[in-house]
Amino acid sequence: MRDFAIARRRMVEDQVIGRGIKDRRVIDAMLKVPRHKFVEEALEGKAYQDAPLPIGEKQTISQPYMVAVMSEALALDGSETVLEVGTGSGYQAAVLALLADRVFSLERIPSLARRARLVLDDCGFSKVNIRVADGTHGWQEMAPFKAIVVTAGAPKIPQDYLDQLAVGGRLIIPVGDRDIQLLMRITRTGEREYQEEQLLGCRFVPLIGNHGWQSERA
Ligand code: SAM
Repeated sequence: MRDFAIARRRMVEDQVIGRGIKDRRVIDAMLKVPRHKFVEEALEGKAYQDAPLPIGEKQTISQPYMVAVMSEALALDGSETVLEVGTGSGYQAAVLALLADRVFSLERIPSLARRARLVLDDCGFSKVNIRVADGTHGWQEMAPFKAIVVTAGAPKIPQDYLDQLAVGGRLIIPVGDRDIQLLMRITRTGEREYQEEQLLGCRFVPLIGNHGWQSERA
């Protein structure tokens, strides 16, 4: 247990603060969430390494730095309702739970959603709401969202995300081809106005669904 706390502190110092993340709330959240609980037991010892890790079903828990970048880019102050697409292990959702008021997370693979639910409850993050669904439609009943974060790579930005974003809200989404994408931030500046920024290159598993990629393989 002690060792994990030390590894976590080192991860945050080297991979998060060391690479330029400045948002104190993001730093504190990543110091708190026990990342090793969100990976399979056999991989616990690698949980704080500078890399994504497999979580089963050909999916991954994102690299710590990428979680930090996405969380910081959302610029949360604690008052927001956030939508995450791609619950995966539940780790990013746990970080968001410490940064925002309400967190809704969509996952298309039931076994991953089930495991994430158990771990999140076990770690005290019961306020995260998870639904098994094709997240390329967003979550209409819970909209509008002040922040939407998509943790899988999309071929293009689904219109539902733009519609479900509150005015003043921010959408973070990797957009590109199956193997490599650009992390984008879209800010809704008015009823019909959106401002687009390119943040950095990234590599996510594909967003699969009606308004994403059509299947696992190209
Ligand atoms: N945020 C996760 C975490 O902290 O562990 C990492 C997510 S992993 C990189 C991407 C996830 O997106 C996978 O679990 C995958 O099943 C999910 N996914 C892909 N397409 C989806 C869709 N249309 N709707 C919901 N989830 C989807």
